[in-house]
Amino acid sequence: MLKTNFVFIIFLFSFTAFTNTATAQPKKIKTIVVDAGHGGSDVGAVGNYEGSLRAREKDITLAISLKLADELRKQLPDVTIVTTRTTDIYQSPREKANIANQANGDLFLCIHADAVNLKTGSRQVGTREVTRYKVTYKGKGKSRKKISTPYKVTQPVYEYYKIPTTRKGTSVFLFAPHKTGDKLKAISQEEGDFDLEGHDDPAEAKIDFNSPEGRAIAQVYAKRFQEKSDLIGTLVNEEVAKTGRNALGVKQRQVGIWVLQATNMPAILIETGFISNPEDERYLVSEAGQQELAEVITRAVIRYKALMENANTTTAN
Ligand SMILES: [Zn+2]
Repeated sequence: MLKTNFVFIIFLFSFTAFTNTATAQPKKIKTIVVDAGHGGSDVGAVGNYEGSLRAREKDITLAISLKLADELRKQLPDVTIVTTRTTDIYQSPREKANIANQANGDLFLCIHADAVNLKTGSRQVGTREVTRYKVTYKGKGKSRKKISTPYKVTQPVYEYYKIPTTRKGTSVFLFAPHKTGDKLKAISQEEGDFDLEGHDDPAEAKIDFNSPEGRAIAQVYAKRFQEKSDLIGTLVNEEVAKTGRNALGVKQRQVGIWVLQATNMPAILIETGFISNPEDERYLVSEAGQQELAEVITRAVIRYKALMENANTTTAN
Protein backbone atom coordinates (compact mmCIF):
# COMPACT_ATOMS: atom_id res chain seq x y z
CA MET A 1 0.00 0.00 0.00
CA LEU A 2 2.71 2.36 1.01
CA LYS A 3 4.77 1.32 -1.96
CA THR A 4 1.86 1.87 -4.34
CA ASN A 5 1.24 5.31 -2.94
CA PHE A 6 4.86 6.15 -3.28
CA VAL A 7 4.89 5.13 -6.97
CA PHE A 8 1.64 7.01 -7.45
CA ILE A 9 3.11 10.24 -6.08
CA ILE A 10 6.25 9.88 -8.20
CA PHE A 11 4.11 9.42 -11.31
CA LEU A 12 1.89 12.35 -10.50
CA PHE A 13 4.85 14.55 -9.75
CA SER A 14 6.78 13.74 -12.92
CA PHE A 15 3.71 13.98 -15.17
CA THR A 16 2.29 17.19 -13.81
CA ALA A 17 5.70 18.74 -14.35
CA PHE A 18 5.34 17.97 -18.06
CA THR A 19 1.88 19.43 -18.37
CA ASN A 20 2.69 22.98 -17.35
CA THR A 21 3.05 23.98 -20.95
CA ALA A 22 1.87 22.24 -24.08
CA THR A 23 5.32 22.38 -25.56
CA ALA A 24 7.26 21.32 -22.50
CA GLN A 25 8.29 18.02 -24.01
CA PRO A 26 9.73 17.14 -27.39
CA LYS A 27 7.63 14.64 -29.25
CA LYS A 28 8.27 13.51 -32.80
CA ILE A 29 5.28 14.00 -35.07
CA LYS A 30 5.47 10.82 -37.10
CA THR A 31 1.91 10.29 -38.24
CA ILE A 32 -0.82 12.80 -39.08
CA VAL A 33 -4.37 11.67 -39.80
CA VAL A 34 -6.54 13.75 -42.13
CA ASP A 35 -10.27 13.10 -41.96
CA ALA A 36 -12.58 14.26 -44.75
CA GLY A 37 -15.77 14.84 -42.75
CA HIS A 38 -18.97 12.96 -43.63
CA GLY A 39 -19.12 10.89 -46.88
CA GLY A 40 -21.45 8.57 -48.79
CA SER A 41 -25.02 8.69 -47.48
CA ASP A 42 -23.88 11.19 -44.84
CA VAL A 43 -23.89 14.27 -47.08
CA GLY A 44 -23.38 16.87 -44.35
CA ALA A 45 -24.52 20.44 -45.00
CA VAL A 46 -25.84 21.46 -48.43
CA GLY A 47 -25.96 24.97 -49.91
CA ASN A 48 -29.64 25.89 -49.87
CA TYR A 49 -29.92 29.66 -50.06
CA GLU A 50 -31.32 31.35 -53.15
CA GLY A 51 -28.65 31.33 -55.85
CA SER A 52 -26.61 28.69 -54.04
CA LEU A 53 -24.34 26.31 -55.97
CA ARG A 54 -25.97 23.49 -53.90
CA ALA A 55 -22.48 22.49 -52.79
CA ARG A 56 -22.37 19.41 -50.57
CA GLU A 57 -20.18 19.33 -47.49
CA LYS A 58 -18.99 15.75 -48.12
CA ASP A 59 -17.56 16.76 -51.54
CA ILE A 60 -15.88 19.89 -50.20
CA THR A 61 -14.30 18.06 -47.25
CA LEU A 62 -12.98 15.33 -49.56
CA ALA A 63 -11.50 17.80 -52.06
CA ILE A 64 -9.78 19.86 -49.34
CA SER A 65 -8.56 16.74 -47.48
CA LEU A 66 -6.98 15.28 -50.63
CA LYS A 67 -5.19 18.57 -51.33
CA LEU A 68 -4.17 18.83 -47.66
CA ALA A 69 -2.76 15.28 -47.66
CA ASP A 70 -0.80 16.07 -50.87
CA GLU A 71 0.53 19.31 -49.42
CA LEU A 72 1.54 17.67 -46.12
CA ARG A 73 3.32 14.85 -47.97
CA LYS A 74 5.14 17.40 -50.12
CA GLN A 75 6.17 19.69 -47.24
CA LEU A 76 6.75 17.00 -44.60
CA PRO A 77 8.17 14.03 -46.51
CA ASP A 78 9.31 12.26 -43.32
CA VAL A 79 5.81 12.23 -41.83
CA THR A 80 3.29 9.49 -42.61
CA ILE A 81 0.01 11.02 -43.75
CA VAL A 82 -3.03 8.82 -43.26
CA THR A 83 -6.43 9.71 -44.75
CA THR A 84 -9.69 8.29 -43.39
CA ARG A 85 -11.18 8.30 -46.89
CA THR A 86 -10.11 9.20 -50.43
CA THR A 87 -13.45 8.44 -52.10
CA ASP A 88 -17.13 9.14 -51.47
CA ILE A 89 -17.78 6.41 -48.89
CA TYR A 90 -19.82 6.44 -45.68
CA GLN A 91 -17.97 6.11 -42.38
CA SER A 92 -19.38 6.31 -38.89
CA PRO A 93 -17.52 8.59 -36.48
CA ARG A 94 -16.37 5.40 -34.72
CA GLU A 95 -14.79 4.09 -37.94
CA LYS A 96 -13.03 7.42 -38.48
CA ALA A 97 -11.71 7.41 -34.91
CA ASN A 98 -10.60 3.77 -35.24
CA ILE A 99 -8.58 4.56 -38.37
CA ALA A 100 -6.83 7.38 -36.51
CA ASN A 101 -6.18 5.28 -33.40
CA GLN A 102 -4.98 2.24 -35.36
CA ALA A 103 -2.62 4.44 -37.36
CA ASN A 104 -1.15 5.55 -34.01
CA GLY A 105 -1.60 9.15 -35.11
CA ASP A 106 0.16 12.04 -33.40
CA LEU A 107 -2.35 14.56 -34.70
CA PHE A 108 -5.91 14.29 -36.01
CA LEU A 109 -7.24 16.93 -38.41
CA CYS A 110 -10.97 16.76 -39.22
CA ILE A 111 -12.06 18.81 -42.21
CA HIS A 112 -15.64 20.09 -42.25
CA ALA A 113 -17.70 22.99 -43.62
CA ASP A 114 -20.16 25.06 -41.63
CA ALA A 115 -23.81 25.88 -42.25
CA VAL A 116 -26.46 27.73 -40.29
CA ASN A 117 -30.25 27.49 -40.32
CA LEU A 118 -31.35 30.09 -42.82
CA LYS A 119 -34.24 32.53 -42.51
CA THR A 120 -36.97 32.33 -45.13
CA GLY A 121 -37.75 35.45 -47.16
CA SER A 122 -40.74 36.09 -49.41
CA ARG A 123 -41.48 38.36 -52.34
CA GLN A 124 -44.56 39.06 -54.49
CA VAL A 125 -44.09 37.60 -57.95
CA GLY A 126 -47.55 38.36 -59.40
CA THR A 127 -51.26 38.19 -58.75
CA ARG A 128 -54.03 35.71 -59.34
CA GLU A 129 -57.80 35.89 -59.59
CA VAL A 130 -59.73 33.82 -57.12
CA THR A 131 -63.47 33.28 -56.85
CA ARG A 132 -65.13 33.89 -53.52
CA TYR A 133 -68.78 33.60 -52.53
CA LYS A 134 -70.94 36.06 -50.74
CA VAL A 135 -73.57 34.17 -48.75
CA THR A 136 -77.00 35.65 -48.18
CA TYR A 137 -80.28 34.20 -46.93
CA LYS A 138 -83.74 34.67 -48.34
CA GLY A 139 -87.08 33.95 -46.73
CA LYS A 140 -88.00 32.94 -43.20
CA GLY A 141 -88.50 29.79 -41.18
CA LYS A 142 -88.61 26.54 -43.20
CA SER A 143 -88.46 28.31 -46.52
CA ARG A 144 -85.22 30.12 -45.59
CA LYS A 145 -82.68 29.62 -48.38
CA LYS A 146 -78.95 30.12 -48.60
CA ILE A 147 -77.78 32.01 -51.67
CA SER A 148 -74.13 32.04 -52.71
CA THR A 149 -73.12 34.82 -55.06
CA PRO A 150 -69.68 34.43 -56.71
CA TYR A 151 -67.30 37.35 -57.04
CA LYS A 152 -63.67 37.73 -58.09
CA VAL A 153 -60.78 39.00 -56.01
CA THR A 154 -57.18 39.62 -56.95
CA GLN A 155 -54.64 38.03 -54.62
CA PRO A 156 -50.88 38.55 -54.49
CA VAL A 157 -48.71 35.50 -55.28
CA TYR A 158 -45.59 35.10 -53.15
CA GLU A 159 -42.39 33.21 -53.71
CA TYR A 160 -40.35 31.95 -50.75
CA TYR A 161 -36.60 31.65 -50.63
CA LYS A 162 -33.77 31.07 -48.16
CA ILE A 163 -31.76 34.14 -47.22
CA PRO A 164 -27.99 33.41 -47.21
CA THR A 165 -26.10 33.98 -44.00
CA THR A 166 -23.67 36.86 -43.68
CA ARG A 167 -21.51 34.68 -41.45
CA LYS A 168 -18.31 33.60 -43.15
CA GLY A 169 -14.84 32.41 -42.26
CA THR A 170 -12.99 29.50 -40.70
CA SER A 171 -13.45 28.21 -37.14
CA VAL A 172 -11.52 25.56 -35.24
CA PHE A 173 -13.19 23.30 -32.67
CA LEU A 174 -11.63 21.37 -29.79
CA PHE A 175 -13.17 18.62 -27.68
CA ALA A 176 -15.11 20.08 -24.79
CA PRO A 177 -13.31 20.03 -21.44
CA HIS A 178 -16.30 18.42 -19.70
CA LYS A 179 -16.01 15.57 -22.20
CA THR A 180 -12.54 14.70 -20.95
CA GLY A 181 -14.00 11.43 -19.65
CA ASP A 182 -14.45 10.25 -23.26
CA LYS A 183 -10.91 11.24 -24.14
CA LEU A 184 -9.79 9.27 -21.08
CA LYS A 185 -11.66 6.23 -22.40
CA ALA A 186 -9.91 6.55 -25.77
CA ILE A 187 -6.57 6.79 -24.00
CA SER A 188 -7.40 3.89 -21.67
CA GLN A 189 -8.29 1.59 -24.58
CA GLU A 190 -4.61 1.55 -25.43
CA GLU A 191 -4.14 -0.82 -22.49
CA GLY A 192 -0.66 -1.78 -21.46
CA ASP A 193 1.26 -0.55 -24.45
CA PHE A 194 0.98 3.18 -24.35
CA ASP A 195 3.49 5.42 -26.01
CA LEU A 196 4.94 7.31 -23.11
CA GLU A 197 6.32 10.43 -24.69
CA GLY A 198 9.97 10.82 -23.96
CA HIS A 199 10.27 7.63 -21.90
CA ASP A 200 12.46 4.92 -23.34
CA ASP A 201 12.07 2.42 -20.52
CA PRO A 202 9.59 -0.20 -21.75
CA ALA A 203 8.77 -1.15 -18.15
CA GLU A 204 7.51 2.36 -17.59
CA ALA A 205 5.44 2.27 -20.78
CA LYS A 206 3.29 -0.57 -19.44
CA ILE A 207 0.40 1.17 -17.78
CA ASP A 208 -2.65 -0.41 -16.22
CA PHE A 209 -5.27 2.24 -16.82
CA ASN A 210 -7.60 0.60 -14.31
CA SER A 211 -5.19 1.32 -11.49
CA PRO A 212 -5.33 4.64 -9.62
CA GLU A 213 -1.95 5.70 -10.96
CA GLY A 214 -2.98 4.62 -14.46
CA ARG A 215 -6.10 6.76 -14.22
CA ALA A 216 -4.03 9.70 -13.04
CA ILE A 217 -1.72 9.31 -16.02
CA ALA A 218 -4.70 9.14 -18.40
CA GLN A 219 -5.99 12.39 -16.87
CA VAL A 220 -2.65 14.02 -17.56
CA TYR A 221 -2.69 12.77 -21.15
CA ALA A 222 -6.19 14.14 -21.70
CA LYS A 223 -5.09 17.52 -20.37
CA ARG A 224 -1.95 17.48 -22.47
CA PHE A 225 -3.91 16.53 -25.59
CA GLN A 226 -6.26 19.42 -24.86
CA GLU A 227 -3.34 21.84 -24.61
CA LYS A 228 -1.78 20.57 -27.82
CA SER A 229 -5.14 20.67 -29.61
CA ASP A 230 -5.51 24.26 -28.46
CA LEU A 231 -2.03 25.05 -29.80
CA ILE A 232 -2.57 23.58 -33.28
CA GLY A 233 -6.02 25.20 -33.35
CA THR A 234 -4.53 28.59 -32.53
CA LEU A 235 -1.90 28.19 -35.24
CA VAL A 236 -4.52 27.25 -37.86
CA ASN A 237 -6.54 30.31 -36.82
CA GLU A 238 -3.45 32.55 -37.14
CA GLU A 239 -2.63 31.19 -40.59
CA VAL A 240 -6.23 31.72 -41.75
CA ALA A 241 -6.07 35.34 -40.53
CA LYS A 242 -2.94 35.91 -42.66
CA THR A 243 -4.93 35.14 -45.84
CA GLY A 244 -7.35 37.98 -45.07
CA ARG A 245 -10.33 35.66 -44.60
CA ASN A 246 -12.28 35.74 -41.34
CA ALA A 247 -10.51 33.75 -38.64
CA LEU A 248 -13.34 33.01 -36.22
CA GLY A 249 -11.18 31.56 -33.47
CA VAL A 250 -10.74 28.35 -31.49
CA LYS A 251 -13.99 27.16 -29.92
CA GLN A 252 -15.59 24.34 -28.00
CA ARG A 253 -19.06 22.93 -28.54
CA GLN A 254 -21.25 22.24 -25.54
CA VAL A 255 -22.52 19.02 -27.09
CA GLY A 256 -19.01 17.76 -27.76
CA ILE A 257 -17.65 16.27 -30.96
CA TRP A 258 -17.43 12.50 -30.94
CA VAL A 259 -14.42 11.97 -33.26
CA LEU A 260 -12.35 14.46 -31.31
CA GLN A 261 -13.08 12.74 -28.02
CA ALA A 262 -12.66 9.19 -29.28
CA THR A 263 -9.17 9.68 -30.65
CA ASN A 264 -6.10 8.99 -28.57
CA MET A 265 -4.15 12.04 -29.79
CA PRO A 266 -4.44 15.83 -30.08
CA ALA A 267 -7.39 16.50 -32.39
CA ILE A 268 -9.08 19.47 -33.99
CA LEU A 269 -12.08 19.94 -36.25
CA ILE A 270 -11.75 22.71 -38.84
CA GLU A 271 -14.96 24.27 -40.10
CA THR A 272 -13.33 25.60 -43.27
CA GLY A 273 -16.12 28.00 -44.24
CA PHE A 274 -19.89 28.49 -44.48
CA ILE A 275 -21.69 26.61 -47.26
CA SER A 276 -24.67 28.86 -46.49
CA ASN A 277 -22.71 32.01 -47.36
CA PRO A 278 -22.31 32.87 -51.08
CA GLU A 279 -18.72 34.09 -50.85
CA ASP A 280 -17.59 31.14 -48.72
CA GLU A 281 -19.49 28.56 -50.77
CA ARG A 282 -17.78 29.74 -53.94
CA TYR A 283 -14.40 29.76 -52.18
CA LEU A 284 -14.94 26.24 -50.82
CA VAL A 285 -15.82 24.70 -54.19
CA SER A 286 -13.00 26.48 -56.06
CA GLU A 287 -9.66 24.81 -56.73
CA ALA A 288 -7.92 27.99 -55.54
CA GLY A 289 -9.88 28.13 -52.28
CA GLN A 290 -9.34 24.46 -51.54
CA GLN A 291 -5.63 24.75 -52.28
CA GLU A 292 -5.29 27.87 -50.11
CA LEU A 293 -6.94 26.07 -47.19
CA ALA A 294 -4.65 23.06 -47.70
CA GLU A 295 -1.60 25.35 -47.63
CA VAL A 296 -2.89 27.34 -44.64
CA ILE A 297 -3.41 24.19 -42.56
CA THR A 298 -0.05 22.78 -43.70
CA ARG A 299 1.74 25.97 -42.57
CA ALA A 300 0.08 25.65 -39.16
CA VAL A 301 1.09 21.96 -38.93
CA ILE A 302 4.71 22.81 -39.81
CA ARG A 303 4.81 25.42 -37.02
CA TYR A 304 3.15 22.98 -34.61
CA LYS A 305 5.62 20.22 -35.48
CA ALA A 306 8.57 22.56 -34.97
CA LEU A 307 7.23 23.66 -31.57
CA MET A 308 6.57 20.07 -30.47
CA GLU A 309 9.91 18.70 -31.61
CA ASN A 310 12.21 21.56 -30.72
CA ALA A 311 10.70 22.58 -27.40
CA ASN A 312 12.93 22.13 -24.40
CA THR A 313 15.29 19.74 -26.16
CA THR A 314 18.02 20.62 -23.67
CA THR A 315 16.06 19.31 -20.70
CA ALA A 316 14.66 16.25 -22.47
CA ASN A 317 15.45 12.93 -20.85
ZN1 LIG B 1 -19.59 18.58 -40.90
